[in-house]
Amino acid sequence: MIAPQRPAAVEPPRAGRRVEGLVVAAYRRHYTVELDDRTPIDCVIRGRSLQLACGDRAALLRTGSGTGVIESVGTRGSLFYRSDLFREKLIAANVTQVVGVVAPDVALDENLLNRWIVAAAAEGCAFVLAANKADLPDHSALLARLKPYAAFGIEPLSLSAKRDVHPLLAELAGKRSVLIGQSGMGKSTIINAVAPSAAARTAEVSRALKTGRHTTTSTALYRLPDCDDWIVDSPGMKVFGLAHYPPDAIVHAFVELRPYEGHCRFTDCRHDREPGCAVQVAVSDGAIAPQRLALLHDLVRESEAVRDPRNRSKS
Ligand code: GDP
Ligand code: ZN
Repeated sequence: MIAPQRPAAVEPPRAGRRVEGLVVAAYRRHYTVELDDRTPIDCVIRGRSLQLACGDRAALLRTGSGTGVIESVGTRGSLFYRSDLFREKLIAANVTQVVGVVAPDVALDENLLNRWIVAAAAEGCAFVLAANKADLPDHSALLARLKPYAAFGIEPLSLSAKRDVHPLLAELAGKRSVLIGQSGMGKSTIINAVAPSAAARTAEVSRALKTGRHTTTSTALYRLPDCDDWIVDSPGMKVFGLAHYPPDAIVHAFVELRPYEGHCRFTDCRHDREPGCAVQVAVSDGAIAPQRLALLHDLVRESEAVRDPRNRSKS
């Protein structure tokens, strides 16, 4: 009797296989997805409606040994992005912490800083305010300027990324972070110091995206050494619209207003010019910063503008 032949172990064809991975680089509609064995796959996206960001879990169809087409995105725990009437830009998905970087030698845009803080609160993320370049003489003046942020639970973390990044490393442990800051604050310095793989990855990503020119405007995710944590570096941005949040969510993301919830005469009070508004009283008593209330009104107006059917054609 002839023994039945064992079928030879067939290596599944690489192309046509469906796999999953982590989005580690994004530039326009091109993405690098890292499979769980850390193999990088250059991907494009199927369909116009799908949008992804670094930190997303992507399901893709392999089209070659190092290429694929993204077909779907996993459920997100959080999504950090900016949007206004004209465009929207995804920055990072599934982050648990936002790290804003400021420094004494670059003019600080506090409106922008507060928008990051509000976005973090709206996504249920922690916020770390990294006050970089502690070695510069003006650093103490920067810290003095940031003192009022303690009123909503934000104490700056002093840091000199060039000399020692350890104070920040401790904050990154156990978190998935996104780093945000105006250009020149020291984001690249921080990324290179916290993620030793960063320099190598920058080169790899620019090769994958077939152009080195765009690395500064693309977004990339870096794994932190010896753990599952990671950090997403975002390009420096001058504007940060939060129009994707409905007005109620925006009000709720101003944490210092929460103790006044239900104290205004009108239940739907927007804390603007309504009579009997507890928040406006708190502002005149100095308990709430007037700039924060002004920002709240700007954000609510921006949110209402994108929801106004008369503006539909512009979006
Ligand atoms: P990015 O635009 O936010 O990525 O900023 P960079 O990382 O390119 O840094 C901008 C400039 O600040 C560079 O000249 C850095 O060398 C410098 N820089 C970064 N961190 C520090 C620091 O801790 N102390 C000082 N004195 N300079 C720093
Ligand atoms: Zn009110």
